[in-house]
Amino acid sequence: MTPQEALQKYFGYSKFRHQQEAIIQHVLNKQDVMALMPTGGGKSLCYQLPAVLLNGLTIVISPLIALMKDQVDSLNVSGIPAAFLNSAQTPEEQRQLVERLRNSQVKLLYLAPERLFGAENKLVPFLKTLNVVQIAIDEAHCISQWGHDFRPEYLMLAQLKNEFPNVPVIALTATADKLTQKDILEKLNLHQPKVFVSSFNRANITYRVIPKKNSFKQLIAFLNERPDESGIIYCLSRKSTEDLAADLKDEGFAAEAYHAGLNNEIKAKNQEAFLRDDVKIIVATIAFGMGINKSNVRYVVHMDLPKNIEGYYQETGRAGRDGLASEALLLYSPGDAGKLQHFARIEGNEEQSRIMLNKLNDMVRYCQLQTCRRQYLMNYFDEAFPPDCGSCDVCLTEFKRFDGTLIAQKALSAVSRLNERFGINYVIDFLRGSKNEKIREEHKQLKTYGIGADISKVDWQRYIRELITLEYLQVTDDGYPVLKLTGQSSLVLKGLQKVEFIETQTTEEHYTEAAPPHEAELLNLLKSVRRDIAQLENVPPYIIVSDATLLEMATYLPQSLDELRLISGFGDIKLARYGRELLQPVKDYCKAKGLESKIAYKSPKRERKTKTERPARSPRSGTDTRTETFNLYRQGKNATEIAAARGLSLVTIESHLSHFVQTGDLDVKELVAENKLTIIIEAVENYGAERLAPLKEVLGDAYTYGEIKAVISWMNKN
Ligand code: ADP
Ligand code: ZN
Repeated sequence: MTPQEALQKYFGYSKFRHQQEAIIQHVLNKQDVMALMPTGGGKSLCYQLPAVLLNGLTIVISPLIALMKDQVDSLNVSGIPAAFLNSAQTPEEQRQLVERLRNSQVKLLYLAPERLFGAENKLVPFLKTLNVVQIAIDEAHCISQWGHDFRPEYLMLAQLKNEFPNVPVIALTATADKLTQKDILEKLNLHQPKVFVSSFNRANITYRVIPKKNSFKQLIAFLNERPDESGIIYCLSRKSTEDLAADLKDEGFAAEAYHAGLNNEIKAKNQEAFLRDDVKIIVATIAFGMGINKSNVRYVVHMDLPKNIEGYYQETGRAGRDGLASEALLLYSPGDAGKLQHFARIEGNEEQSRIMLNKLNDMVRYCQLQTCRRQYLMNYFDEAFPPDCGSCDVCLTEFKRFDGTLIAQKALSAVSRLNERFGINYVIDFLRGSKNEKIREEHKQLKTYGIGADISKVDWQRYIRELITLEYLQVTDDGYPVLKLTGQSSLVLKGLQKVEFIETQTTEEHYTEAAPPHEAELLNLLKSVRRDIAQLENVPPYIIVSDATLLEMATYLPQSLDELRLISGFGDIKLARYGRELLQPVKDYCKAKGLESKIAYKSPKRERKTKTERPARSPRSGTDTRTETFNLYRQGKNATEIAAARGLSLVTIESHLSHFVQTGDLDVKELVAENKLTIIIEAVENYGAERLAPLKEVLGDAYTYGEIKAVISWMNKN
């Protein structure tokens, strides 16, 4: 099989992205590789695809259990046998895994680095008895002290090349920093490594910065435009994450808080609920994110100014891993910058303080840009980029420059006349000739009083802000902020210096969604079907298929499995397992609305196999397929065996069997042990039967979704 064929068959994709193909080719040629790609760029595929093609075992080193679990679930769902080894497994589970490894039944084995080279280690000698053909090191920047999440255990990986000298190593990271890259290569001892650097641009993310005014109102306006989407909202303090989550809940949003100070149980619960789309919004400190592989995060909002560009870029990068249009929104206030400056100073460490302050200044400059934000970000990471990206707020806004010298002179002379002793609001009221009693009588006598009455309050605020940015005015930052002139002010007042203002043409706070025309109602329907499947398979929904895949379905409306095959994301196994279940709602929807397939409009995905190469299955009605399951069950097969035999998902088989519990053909006690039965009934009575996930959570791992479903069917019958 060629890499191209495997890409389609196992992953359901038609084209390689970035330099995936070249990277894969190098690994297949047994050469060491380091691949640098942005988050969501498709790093995993670079070792997963060779793992499928090579005849032997691929070891994957990964820093977090959550990451491993996600990857393993996702591979298994695609029919690629993968497993992980971790300390939470029972001796029996470990024994079974060893057995599977010995019998070459596992293609990818995920491990934490300390497992490999821990104290009483027998693992390396064991692995050497197996046919190891590739070693992948995910999140390779963890080996570097320069990186942002250094893990000392990663240093042990230096021994890898000695232990497995002939096995190609592929190191992967999304860290753009040059120093870290060099460090990775040195520490890992790679043999003549070929380094692949992809652009770090995240083209599907739109960057926006808005001035922070009433932040909660601004946030609500933003969220109201995307009610069904998932997002992360970052706050600076733990307390504000909790407050904001509570306020959002009051407004009817499904939001939860996450920060390092919460107890582990709550953290795990909130994270899990977010991954499973039960909670749409997570309000978090930057403690949240590492290890979050959720691909359908549609937006990341920063309520407060981040400390540096590195962190900001990483956090915003958690949006849109599925490649669909996503938003990064930052609420900026100069006051935040002042607060952070205070924190950036480290007592007794001038050098460090200076670095931190510089980084903060770069962040502030980003917020104040009047040029393309994406270009600034790319340049920050030493990547050249043209000046007009077309998808940041600056590029999306049309600017018109105009001569603002007269306006500036009015403002500056007002500040001067008021002896540089008043704040922005007073100055504006004074300029506009406000009758407000707050304006002192003696000020009302001045000639400058009311010279700016023709300009609205909002516009004055903007002009004065701009004068501050241009450094013709400054604001004191002690207790009561007062406007003061600067060294340059007199040049303007004397008419020696012209001032240019920028007029914004488009409404700044309008958020647009760049999705192709699709059936929105159907998309929601598909999401709910996916959710049911995911609940029963006990994995997060995005593991089943991505949002991008569902969006294509709701756009091209496939009417048969053959057409569904043309949708990106359906490899052979996924098609066999979930194709029918996901296709049915599309067909029903189209029938009801009189719509037809638009698959012909989709550009051809690849050369397709002829139909006869796939096992031909005649269409069956629902009743027949259930009966077929039931017959197999009666022959003594269990649900898993039936699923394998029929090429259907366990979900489907379990729901078939539940059906017969409801009709009375099958005694619930055949599927559920008696002691479990009473406990499940109790849980259903207490929590209701509408949603399975909460029930599963209350009942714990000892209870399967199949058992719960069977009991619910039985209760329905009675
Ligand atoms: P990374 O690890 O670089 O952050 P992932 O490996 O998680 O990114 O990939 C991000 C998403 O892109 C996944 O949903 C993955 O299946 C998808 N993907 C990877 N390669 C391709 C490709 N060639 N075509 C389409 N989608 C792809
Ligand atoms: Zn731009």
